[in-house]
Amino acid sequence: MNTPAADQSNTQKTVLITGASRGIGKCIAEIFAKNNCNLVLLCRNSLNSMRENGRKLSEEYGINVSCYAVDVSNSEEISGLFQDLSNHQISIDILINNAGISHVGLLQDMTDAEWDRIIQTNLNSVFYTSRAVLPSMIAAKSGRIINISSVWGDTGASMEVAYSASKGGVNAFTKALAKELAPSGISVNAVACGFIDTEMNAHLSKPERDILFEEIPAGRPGTAKEVAEFVYEIAVSSKYLTGQVITFDGGWT
Ligand code: NDP
Repeated sequence: MNTPAADQSNTQKTVLITGASRGIGKCIAEIFAKNNCNLVLLCRNSLNSMRENGRKLSEEYGINVSCYAVDVSNSEEISGLFQDLSNHQISIDILINNAGISHVGLLQDMTDAEWDRIIQTNLNSVFYTSRAVLPSMIAAKSGRIINISSVWGDTGASMEVAYSASKGGVNAFTKALAKELAPSGISVNAVACGFIDTEMNAHLSKPERDILFEEIPAGRPGTAKEVAEFVYEIAVSSKYLTGQVITFDGGWT
């Protein structure tokens, strides 16, 4: 695999990844496993397949993997998760806020429930998990938070107003929290992805995909593995890199 060299200093570190059952989150889990990190993996519906992948990673790399079915948009479920982690004496060194959902449609047709679901899943979740990891990170004066955002959070997308607003919120959250936490030795960054070839885009037809690819200077979508490799590079970079929303889009925007 063409990934950054295995980092022995990551031994014993524990990484919590939301939305780790498939797509970008699954690839992020694989690269941190390969680099000797213990994993706490979250998804909502796909616990069995995520557990199966976690078992394989644990066997292959000799790491501890804990899997949870948690709705990241639910504050009480996140509190319960962290209570359970505390009971098992697991503290988080690196938090990757990756879980997210999209909604395509005209704003005028959107219901309150649809709006709330997008904002709660994509933005509130980042608040809930970040708040929960901070006490132990601040006590350790060390930690990393990496948020998976979108280019739409900066440029905005027609028919994806709620999604764009949620990711714009993630970008502002990232910059503000980085300022709050730099004195505590904790870095906070975001990766604003362009078009990444995952199930999130499975609704697009081949002609729609082809039109999009023509707009991307790189001529193709990014892969989940490429995003994961980049996230890992941020996680092992200098802590002086903080408060950044880094675009990862093949030159698209
Ligand atoms: P996928 O749809 O492939 O995977 C989404 C993951 O999030 C799944 O593991 C899913 O688990 C989990 N998830 C969704 N809702 C919840 C919830 N309420 N609670 C817990 N877990 C949840 O998406 P991608 O891998 O493509 O996207 C990952 C991130 O990257 C998202 O934040 C997305 O916005 C962002 N992104 C993706 C782009 C792309 O082109 N693919 C572009 C820009 C940003 P389960 O099925 O079990 O619910």
